[in-house]
Amino acid sequence: MAFLKPRTRHGIVMTASTPEPKTPKLEERLVTQISKQGPISFATYMEAVADAYYARGTVFGKAGDFITAPEVSQVFGELVGLWCVTTWQALGQPRNFNLVECGPGRGTLMADALRTVWDIAPAFARSASLHLVERSDALRNEQRKTLAPYDINWHNGLSTLPDGPVILIANEFLDALPISQFIKTPSGWCERLVAHDTDGFRFTTAPLPHPEIGNAFDDAPTDSILEQSNAVQEATSRIAALCVDNLGAALLIDYGHTFSDVGDTVQAVKNHAYHPVLKSPGDADITAHVDFAAVAQSARAQGASIHGPVEQGPWLIRLGAEVREFQLSEGKTGTEIQAIHSSIHRLIDPQGMGGLFKVIAFGPNGIAPLSGFEAMPSP
Ligand code: SAH
Repeated sequence: MAFLKPRTRHGIVMTASTPEPKTPKLEERLVTQISKQGPISFATYMEAVADAYYARGTVFGKAGDFITAPEVSQVFGELVGLWCVTTWQALGQPRNFNLVECGPGRGTLMADALRTVWDIAPAFARSASLHLVERSDALRNEQRKTLAPYDINWHNGLSTLPDGPVILIANEFLDALPISQFIKTPSGWCERLVAHDTDGFRFTTAPLPHPEIGNAFDDAPTDSILEQSNAVQEATSRIAALCVDNLGAALLIDYGHTFSDVGDTVQAVKNHAYHPVLKSPGDADITAHVDFAAVAQSARAQGASIHGPVEQGPWLIRLGAEVREFQLSEGKTGTEIQAIHSSIHRLIDPQGMGGLFKVIAFGPNGIAPLSGFEAMPSP
C-alpha cells in the first residue's frame, strides 16, 4: 500500500505557481557535477537544494513559501516550553544543561517556549545554555533578532554539541534532511538518480540493484518507490546517544508516517503551492515524509527509551492546548477569539496538521512516560 501524497506541507491550497528567477549558481553547479560524474543520487540533489533554499533566509510565514506550526500559533511553542519544563523535572532538574533546538527557522518556537519557561519555571531558564543547530547564515541572523535577549551558541551540525544533560527539540527539521529513493525493477531495488539534458533535470534509474537494500518490501509491485534516509538515521542516532550518554531527552515533531511502507513522499513547495521537484532547484522548499518507525529504530539501537510516536493533535491537547485557548481568549473581542480558535484548531485538527504531524520523544532508559505520551503506547 502506498502513502497518500501529502496534501500540503500543512494545508496549502493547490494553485498555479508564478514563474520566478532561477538560482543559477546551484543549477550550474549541479549541471557541472552531473556532466562530470554522470547522474547523481536524489539524496545529493536534495541536500544541495535544501542548503541553497534555506540560505535565502525568509522562507516561512504568509509572505514566504510555507507556514510551520510555531508560525501558526504561539500556543505551539508555549506547550513545547511546558513539555521542556516537565521533562527537566523528570530528569531530576539538572542545574546546568543544554537546551538545544535543531533547525530553529526564524526562532519563533524557541522564543515562545522561553517566554513560557521564564513564567512558570525560572530555575529551568537560569540552568539552561542555549544551542541552535542551524546551517543557514541568513536564518541565524533571523534567530539572533527573534532571540535577542539570549546568549546563543550555534552549530552547523549535531556533532559539535557539547556533552552534558540535554533537552533537545526539533520541529520540521528531519523532513528537510536528504533522503534516497529506490525504484522496484524486475531485478531488484535500484537507486533513483537525477540526470540532466536539454530539457533540464530528469529522474533516471541506476542500472543495477542497490547492494544495501535488503529484501524488505520485496513483494512491492514494479515501479514502487522506497525511501530511506541516512541523514535522518545519523541525526536520530546522534540525538538518542546524547540522551542516553548525558541524561537527556529529545522531542521531535514532524510530518510523516508511523509505519515504514513504500511510496513517494517527496514534495517541493513554493508560494504555498506545489512546485515540480526537479524544476529551478533552490527556489522551492523540498521535504519528505519522516518514517517514524525508522526514527524509533535508530534511537532504540542507542539504548534510548521511545515515547510515541503519537499524533500532534492529541499530544497538544494533552499538554493543554484547549485550556490555553480559553486563557488567551479571556477579555478578547469576538473576532480575536475566532482567530485564536482557528489557529489552534489548525494545529490540532485530525484532518490537517493534528493528524499529519507526529510527535516522538527519546529519553534515558527507565524514565517514566514523558508529558503528553502517558498511556499512549508506541505502536
Ligand atoms: N523549526 C522551524 C523551521 C523548520 S524549516 C519551524 O518550525 O518553523 C527547517 C530548518 O532546519 C531550517 O531552519 C533549516 O535551515 C534547518 N536545516 C535544514 N537542514 C539542516 C541541516 N542539515 N543542518 C542544520 N540545519 C538544517
